[in-house]
Amino acid sequence: MNTTLHLYNTLSRQKEKFEPLRPPFVGLYVCGPTLYNEPHIGNLRTFISFDMIYRYLKYMGYQVKYVRNITDAGHITNSLGEDVDNIGIAARLEQMQPLEIVYKYNLKFQLLTKTFNLLPPNIEPTASAHIQEQIEIIEKIIENGFGYSVNGSVYFDVKKYMEKFPYGILSGRNVDELEAETRALQGQEEKKFFADFGLWKRFDPNDMQIWRSPWGKGNPGWHIECTAMSTKYLGKTFDIHGGGMDLKAVHHENEIAQNCGALGINPAKYWLHSNMLNLNGKKMSKSLGNFFMPFELIDGTSPLFSKPYEPSVIRFFMMMGHYRSELDISDEALQSAEKGYLRLVQSFRNISKITPKTPNETLWNQLLQIEADCKKAMDDDFNTSVCIAQLFELAGLINKSLHHEIEASDREIEKMQQIVTDYFETVLGIDYQDKNTIRFDLDSIMQMIIDIRKRARENKDYQTSDQIRDALTKAGIELKDSKEGTSYEII
Ligand code: AMP
Ligand code: ZN
Repeated sequence: MNTTLHLYNTLSRQKEKFEPLRPPFVGLYVCGPTLYNEPHIGNLRTFISFDMIYRYLKYMGYQVKYVRNITDAGHITNSLGEDVDNIGIAARLEQMQPLEIVYKYNLKFQLLTKTFNLLPPNIEPTASAHIQEQIEIIEKIIENGFGYSVNGSVYFDVKKYMEKFPYGILSGRNVDELEAETRALQGQEEKKFFADFGLWKRFDPNDMQIWRSPWGKGNPGWHIECTAMSTKYLGKTFDIHGGGMDLKAVHHENEIAQNCGALGINPAKYWLHSNMLNLNGKKMSKSLGNFFMPFELIDGTSPLFSKPYEPSVIRFFMMMGHYRSELDISDEALQSAEKGYLRLVQSFRNISKITPKTPNETLWNQLLQIEADCKKAMDDDFNTSVCIAQLFELAGLINKSLHHEIEASDREIEKMQQIVTDYFETVLGIDYQDKNTIRFDLDSIMQMIIDIRKRARENKDYQTSDQIRDALTKAGIELKDSKEGTSYEII
């Protein structure tokens, strides 16, 4: 079992050696989408980042249980700290039942996850199917003295909690800082302390979803669902809890408080946060209106983009950045990612065309080094961008072997293919074999052009043959003439 993985733990603010609680098993919980509308490409980045993390853990040989919830119940605290029932609002707007809304957008979300080659989690539990578990956790919190009920609502008692546990350990913010940010909010007057947060919300005449509880009719607070479902499926403490960076300061902080308050322990040993996808330097979000949908990118219908992009190109673009770094999406950035992607894919698809020759010890050692460096990069807090740089090195060696600049035997050719399968396909999750990933068969088109140029040269029409070569160079394709014939390379 590989024990060389180091990951950045938000809790300790440093990279730590990954030591699972019960090897070879690993419990991974990721906060999933709230399905009141279609996930935008920013939301997708978070799920792609954790898909890569899940893939690498599996690749290392761990038996991972991956839980990603679906929020289909409860009130959410929005960026202004207001309590909103997004699913209820959408249900009213679209004149549907709340769970019809969730079903409609879940179909889209599932289609997206398949389109972008995300592996399915082991379970995708919904909040609405776990109301009883949420009520039980709230009861434990009250029993332990960290919760109180007022007029049919239940709040988490942050002051009481702070007598026994530190609050704000994830974001590093103390309650005084929080106070400065807190506005006069609805329901605030019921709380004993401004930082107390809702565990159960009493029935409001506008609510479209209502459940019975020991405190009367109402619905659960947003944070409690993750505590209930992570405990149910992964135990009271497990290995990795993940989510977008924007969930760190409130949602995850409160999940820790609830878990400690109910069960006396932090839910996760490692807290991982993926960074945001930005548009023009600003976090892409529904509330700012600076978002677009994944299918707009694929269909080329977004006015911000000059052309359609394949899902694997978009995924590759995301993998080019480190999951903890912000990433700015633009037409330019996608075009350059596409160029790199095509260079790699073209080269990887040509591995089977290399003519095996005698063993080449130097090449063999270079390949072993590339493989070791890919692993080293992934072991270093999932550094996909360094891993991709190594894959470009590999593409260079493949091209040289193909063009007879160096020799490769079966052993080296197999190693090339294995590195591509392991890292490009399995770990980064790029489905490069999918014929749809390149809309046209570049190989046949290039063969036709190469044949036309060959005929022109045979007829001593050097003007035409030079014209073809120059036009291709301009388009980013270089022709390579050798004794064996002409081949091409994307530059
Ligand atoms: P939501 O459906 O709003 O609960 O968001 C689902 C996930 O998407 C959460 O983990 C968020 O952190 C994440 N998210 C929201 N906006 C962005 C963004 N611009 N870039 C990356 N992740 C995001
Ligand atoms: Zn959550």
